Amino acid sequence: MVKSSIVGYPVIGENREWKRALEAFWAEIISEEELLRTTKDIRLANLKKQQDAGVDRIAVGDFTLYDRVLDTSTMFGIIPSRYHWKGGQVSISTYFSMARGNDDAVASEMTKWFNTNYHYIVPEYEGQRFQLTENKPLTAYREAKKELGIEGKPVLLGPYTLLKLSKGYEEIDVPSIILQLIPLYQKVLQELQDEGVQWVQIDEPILCTSISSDEMKTVTEIYLQLTKNINSLNVLVQTYFDSVEHYEATLALPVAGIGLDFVHGGVKNLENLKKYSFPDDKVLAAGIVDGRNIWRSDLNVKLSLLGKIQQHVESGNVWIQPSSSLLHVPVTIQSEQKLDSTIKNALSFADEKIKELNVLKAALQQGKESVASDFKQNEAALTAFNQLPARKREEVRQASSGSTLSDSKRNLPFAERKLKQQEKFQLPVLPTTTIGSFPQTPEVRITRTKWRKGEITDQQYKDFVKAEIKEWIQIQEELGLDVLVHGEFERTDMVEYFGEKLDGFVFTEKAWVQSYGSRCVKPPIIYGDVVFTKPMTVEESVYAKSLTDHEVKGMLTGPVTILNWSFVRDDLTREEVTNQIALALRKEIESLEAAGIHMIQVDEPALREGLPLKQSEWNHYLDWAVNAFRVATASVEDTTQIHTHMCYCDFNHFIEAISALDADVISIETSRSHGDLVESFKEYHYDKGIGLGVYDIHSPRVPAVEEMTEIINKGLEVLEPSQFWINPDCGLKTRKREETVAALKHMVIATEQARERL
Ligand code: GLN
Ligand code: ZN
Repeated sequence: MVKSSIVGYPVIGENREWKRALEAFWAEIISEEELLRTTKDIRLANLKKQQDAGVDRIAVGDFTLYDRVLDTSTMFGIIPSRYHWKGGQVSISTYFSMARGNDDAVASEMTKWFNTNYHYIVPEYEGQRFQLTENKPLTAYREAKKELGIEGKPVLLGPYTLLKLSKGYEEIDVPSIILQLIPLYQKVLQELQDEGVQWVQIDEPILCTSISSDEMKTVTEIYLQLTKNINSLNVLVQTYFDSVEHYEATLALPVAGIGLDFVHGGVKNLENLKKYSFPDDKVLAAGIVDGRNIWRSDLNVKLSLLGKIQQHVESGNVWIQPSSSLLHVPVTIQSEQKLDSTIKNALSFADEKIKELNVLKAALQQGKESVASDFKQNEAALTAFNQLPARKREEVRQASSGSTLSDSKRNLPFAERKLKQQEKFQLPVLPTTTIGSFPQTPEVRITRTKWRKGEITDQQYKDFVKAEIKEWIQIQEELGLDVLVHGEFERTDMVEYFGEKLDGFVFTEKAWVQSYGSRCVKPPIIYGDVVFTKPMTVEESVYAKSLTDHEVKGMLTGPVTILNWSFVRDDLTREEVTNQIALALRKEIESLEAAGIHMIQVDEPALREGLPLKQSEWNHYLDWAVNAFRVATASVEDTTQIHTHMCYCDFNHFIEAISALDADVISIETSRSHGDLVESFKEYHYDKGIGLGVYDIHSPRVPAVEEMTEIINKGLEVLEPSQFWINPDCGLKTRKREETVAALKHMVIATEQARERL
């Protein structure tokens, strides 16, 4: 019998109850006891929904108070010494200190979970002795059984993925780390077995990255050890986000089941399945419903895919499940009241995906006729959706397949543009600027909300934004900054703002997904061809420019970032969609230029996070991503200066792509890189303009002039003064006005002193 299974479920609740509970606890509004009670209610409600929906293998232990990787680190006592943990049970305050920092110790680093927008807390290895502090999967299993009678499938992060996601160790430490981890994992599994648990899911998404054959041997060795004394407990090794790199070796792991993703990387996984088949004695947990995107499945397509899969697997050994944890999609489409019904009908969030699994299960077990009406509804919904005129616009298709895409080269090479731009702008050496946004005070937010609710008129809102711009232009002039910005007061979010003005996007009311910690995002949905309809940023930039003799940078979000921070239609390639966005932005940039804006910053903080899991696919991605940026920016005059901005990321292997963007100036967030960034530029002779954030904006503390001087000097060790720009890190919108002004004052002083030393 085919079984249905869930890899993981969103923690946040239909109305982000989880977020509210956490934040109330941090604000000391509710006690620890109350936090635990509330989150238990949420957890059980989540499980109950899956139980009511008839899921056969419900994941337990996927719930978290912050992040699942952090849960694993604390479970194994991988806790840095700066938190002064003494061993034994990890308190909630230690747990949250690692996630968020405390007065004495900075938080652990946070980074993206593979190529998703979910962030995890990076485990830090310091040579500490690991210990099992709590068998969390067992606790979760017992709770689900006791409270709801669920025979759950505990999930835990696998040892090899845990290791590879950690930092602070050298290659040489690997064997000893593994030797430490194995007995702890063994103990976890042994206790689950003693409890009578049937299945445990061990996540090893790292098997979908480009790991070497030697590494795969290590993985095999680890699993031989882990399962040595395991017989009645069935271990399922779960992979996702791509095809497994070593198919045969993965399938030969000494475990009872393997989970494969047949959506992302599905083609390759299916190819391998056909070529090498599947062991008779194992369960294949087949990820067939997209766990990362919000589109309703085409049930006919899925059913035929399942048919192909079943040909290679012993009958009864197939589970059907989402391609990954559902934490990457919102909870339920039911919460949406305002969406166009044709579009709404084409969407499927976590709860709807579970229903899709049920229909597919029924079709496999009792024949398609048994669920004929579901299939009919499904077909009708998708047909209606695909017939929407916005889905396919001839003019967009023509433009994005035409010659404009090869028109991605500036008229002159950088070295020549640079001279012309120097002459035009006459900037001092080490020009100062900021990254775009200025503080969004409560007043800014309240006024926007009033406007959205119709409590104030469009004109009143516009006047308010203008007043903010005016005030900040004056502040920037008084501070003595060289290149000014308008401050982005009209934007809540750098992607939403553009999505609302371009055609082809829709927005939801409650379709939140967890991004990091309690922070949730509500990504726009790109459902149709993307069209530029009217200038989006010209009015504010032109107004700002009218108030000053300084240059004012126009400010927009780049095509790749708009793509990577949205839910994207899946009937076109990501490349095609990005090109459509790029062509629309090109019109915006041309409009800005025509309106007299001669410096234009196109932010691409999310460029790197779209990198595929497999290194062999990086070049292809970077080629089209870089080309899209260039398509957007290439048509301007030689004297128009294109800026870009990126938040911190590991820039090694990546500098060439940055350079290929051919932006005249790039600013990079620096403080979170702990100085590694400058090192990367040493190796590569980067010739274009570059600004390294000279102070961390993430804290209300105003850094001293000397601290900024230190970073400036470090930068000048590897970069020419003539290419070096001075700016803070990004995100000033989150700061208060006084802090911002005070810190920028110090930045200007540090710059003036640095100029004198040159
Ligand atoms: N221009 C944006 C700002 O200053 C950039 C935001 C970002 O780096 N993510 O807020
Ligand atoms: Zn940034």
